[in-house]
Amino acid sequence: MKCPVCQKDYFSKHELEAGLPAYKCKECEGIWVSAAQYWKWLETRSDVPEIADAEVQLPVEQEGPARLCPETGHFLRRYKVWPDIEFYLDRCGNCTGVWFDAGEWEALRSRDLHDQVHLFFSDVWQRQLREDQTRLRMTNLYREKFGEEDYARIQEIRAWLEGHAQGRALLAYLTDRDPYSIAG
Ligand SMILES: [Zn+2]
Ligand SMILES: [Zn+2]
Repeated sequence: MKCPVCQKDYFSKHELEAGLPAYKCKECEGIWVSAAQYWKWLETRSDVPEIADAEVQLPVEQEGPARLCPETGHFLRRYKVWPDIEFYLDRCGNCTGVWFDAGEWEALRSRDLHDQVHLFFSDVWQRQLREDQTRLRMTNLYREKFGEEDYARIQEIRAWLEGHAQGRALLAYLTDRDPYSIAG
């Protein structure tokens, strides 16, 4: 088994969680979790959400050298996992094992997401993520453009108009250059 990062066999067995054996690279401290072991461990946990739909291969652009699966030698694909989590997980499309760079498992664990890793690769999840990212980008754009205070105010007005029976008329009034002139 070769480490996807170091490309040498620096692996040793590592008990990632109670009942979840994994391999840890002693050089880069990355962790390889085989799909079979992960699923076995998952079964021992209660309240684990199920996969919503079939997975899809939507790799995020690769940065740096290609990484290969230590088990099957296939390319690892990178997946964004959470809107405000910076790192990507690498996953083998063939055996569905997952590579965690040093600290990534712990980061997920600290948010109690380590038993939802299987969900991150589903189509529904990846689509939702992209939508969330777009929303976040747009929010930041408006924030920057309007400033914090005005953005908060315009959001209030928007919410008020949306919930109002006369919303469209109020908006027309607001955007009309002179709502009191007949010429319009
Ligand atoms: Zn390594
Ligand atoms: Zn593989």
